Amino acid sequence: MSNRAYNFNAGPAALPLEVLERAQAEFVDFHGTGMSIMEMSHRGAVYEAVHNEAASRLLNLFGNPSGYQVLFLQGGASTQFAMLPMNLLTEGKTAGYVKSGSWATKALKEAKLIGETFVAASSEEDKYMSLPDVSNLRLPENAAYLHLTSNETIEGTQFREFPDTGSVPLIADMSSDILCRPFDLTQFGMVYAGAQKNLGPSGVTVVIAREELLRESPKHLPTMFRYDTHAENNSLYNTPPSFSIYMVNEVLKWIEEQGALEGIEKKNQDKANLLYQAIDASGGFYRGCVHPESRSTMNVTFRLASEELEKLFVKESEKEGFVGLKGHRSVGGLRASIYNAVPKSSIQALVDFMGQFQKNHG
Ligand code: PMP
Repeated sequence: MSNRAYNFNAGPAALPLEVLERAQAEFVDFHGTGMSIMEMSHRGAVYEAVHNEAASRLLNLFGNPSGYQVLFLQGGASTQFAMLPMNLLTEGKTAGYVKSGSWATKALKEAKLIGETFVAASSEEDKYMSLPDVSNLRLPENAAYLHLTSNETIEGTQFREFPDTGSVPLIADMSSDILCRPFDLTQFGMVYAGAQKNLGPSGVTVVIAREELLRESPKHLPTMFRYDTHAENNSLYNTPPSFSIYMVNEVLKWIEEQGALEGIEKKNQDKANLLYQAIDASGGFYRGCVHPESRSTMNVTFRLASEELEKLFVKESEKEGFVGLKGHRSVGGLRASIYNAVPKSSIQALVDFMGQFQKNHG
């Protein structure tokens, strides 16, 4: 299909064309049932098979470590900012937060509403243009968990390595880089992500956690806010976002076809290199926002000499079929979100456009 935009949206974001086409093919009549997957009962065998398949594919991509469970929840990653401390930050405990940018700060803000917290590391002084050092964190004995944001979507930073937190559960918001590369899930007590970047459409939030962390919900918590409710009911306590989960399953199949997480990582590295090299080779016309060692392979942030020139860049890029290159409203500048499903051809087209723009305005 040739009329697809060069989609650099930050989320909801590009989905693999193959997935959209497969979903389209079975949209009206799912596997001969005479109805769409979104028209059928979530208690029926046909839907439940899809639901369970999505959860097992996800664990399978991480090598099926024992003792982990997948939850499909609603309310976005933003709801996890609150649900996590509601369930795990109990009386007498404190929770550590790595303050690496806008999303980490939002997560911390919610936790403060629930209980005691501390900032374990921060790069606020550097305006979050680099990542804080997390190699030698001292965590108190009563730490409920350490929370970090693996990829800061707005600033464009990404952790390459994760801290060893010993017996304190490490918990990560992976909303903008889950499944972009392999990692050892057993380093983490829990990871969570809104689906709308690397996993599928909006509407479902994935939580992958060690089972025991899903069994600690304090008694007073209302039913829907308790991890144990969803864990004990296979995320079917109430009506799940069935169509979104079906789409996640299709995206997971596509990831398997790309050579699983190893294959995806290679492609992502290649794509990110192409774009960062174009920025670095522009003689300062384009300037990467983030210190090179903290750069994200998912959200590439860069600036031009003036805001006027940046506005012109966005305007001219839109005319050429590029979408989503304006930086987040809170930081300005430019941002290309190059998640798993953004093809290298879109990035090559962007690099070509950037070269042309520099020729015209440099
Ligand atoms: N965390 C990160 C890292 C994000 O990028 C986002 C969304 N851009 C969120 C959390 C919030 O996600 P949601 O909109 O699903 O609540």
